[in-house]
Amino acid sequence: MKKILVTGGAGFLGSHLCERLLSEGHDVLCVDNYFTGTKQNILHLINRPMFEVLRHDVTFPLYVEVDQIYNLACPASPIHYQYDPVQTTKTSVHGAINMLGLAKRLNARILQASTSEVYGDPEVHPQPEKYWGRVNPVGVRSCYDEGKRCAETLFFDYWRQHQLEIKVVRIFNTFGPRMHPNDGRVVSNFIVQALKGDDITIYGDGLQTRSFCYVDDLINAMVAMMNTRKDFTGPVNIGNPGEFTMLELAETILSLTGSKSKLIYKDLPSDDPKQRRPDISLAQKELDWKPQVCLEDGLKETINYFSRIVGA
Ligand code: NAD
Ligand code: UDP
Ligand code: UDP
Repeated sequence: MKKILVTGGAGFLGSHLCERLLSEGHDVLCVDNYFTGTKQNILHLINRPMFEVLRHDVTFPLYVEVDQIYNLACPASPIHYQYDPVQTTKTSVHGAINMLGLAKRLNARILQASTSEVYGDPEVHPQPEKYWGRVNPVGVRSCYDEGKRCAETLFFDYWRQHQLEIKVVRIFNTFGPRMHPNDGRVVSNFIVQALKGDDITIYGDGLQTRSFCYVDDLINAMVAMMNTRKDFTGPVNIGNPGEFTMLELAETILSLTGSKSKLIYKDLPSDDPKQRRPDISLAQKELDWKPQVCLEDGLKETINYFSRIVGA
């Protein structure tokens, strides 16, 4: 049994992670400023004796005593991270410095939730970890992409300079229950639109691709990475290599919901990557992990969740 800090623990992924760590018998401290996370996401955990919540912004120092740190605090959807881009960069950079400083004082193992966005709009496909990426440093997505890249740099410098036990996972698009219904991400948008009978908004021609990982698979990989051998730092890609166009995703959601919603086309947001698929051979080799849940099964669970939320 360990004392484990989860920053961003009231968010989509963080709430699933807290739940998983509690189920393994750990003592979990959830730290969140509720920017995009909600108390609703962790309501079912509140009465667990081993669960504690602290309202705190990771851009400020944090003095607590723990054995492991999962650093997830950061808004993840473009609408949210572009709402206050300076705060987004601060969250990634100052947040990483503070959590690394905390880990250094405690000699605690620390895992960073990095992102496939570090590859930007990639010219290498699928993306292996050794690919350095193609990121616009001055665009509207840069606060997120460059903030996460700088956080990775900090993690590796604390490892080289202070011998900290670091773990870096690069998460590809993940979906599941407790995604925000209106944060603009494609899976939640399409499901909510389909359930309400609203038009399905395809950005651009809908031929851009993404790979969607179900949340349970992602959490399995994160926990496996945290507990892997000391000298395996990553970065390691975590995602589902199944690759779909946005049109294919829309058709699948329409058929699973039985919705009569129509497709409409809107402008493609700037810097929107054309294709993205993880090369997960490193995760398979090092973590003995691969995703178990296919897109359709994951979508069914997510549709059930949103049916309750949007009251369809
Ligand atoms: P989310 O927005 O649901 O969760 C982020 C959480 O961090 C929220 O609870 C939010 O309130 C909290 N937070 C934000 N800024 C904070 C701050 N300054 N101090 C304290 N808490 C703060 O997003 P998510 O999808 O759960 O993503 C979690 C992590 O995983 C993020 O770091 C994100 O970049 C990363 N990630 C997610 C995906 C994905 O597909 N969901 C993909 C790649 C990377
Ligand atoms: N820090 C923290 N909690 C701790 C220890 C450090 O939040 O328990 C923060 C503190 O703000 C510090 C930062 O982490 O500035 C980096 O710590 P480090 O020890 O690497 O460097 P310092 O700035 O203290 O020289
Ligand atoms: N997208 C779309 N319709 C929507 C929302 C998003 O076609 O209603 C597209 C978006 O342009 C992008 C893809 O879906 O090409 C994934 O978008 P999301 O914001 O979910 O993730 P990210 O771009 O960060 O991978």
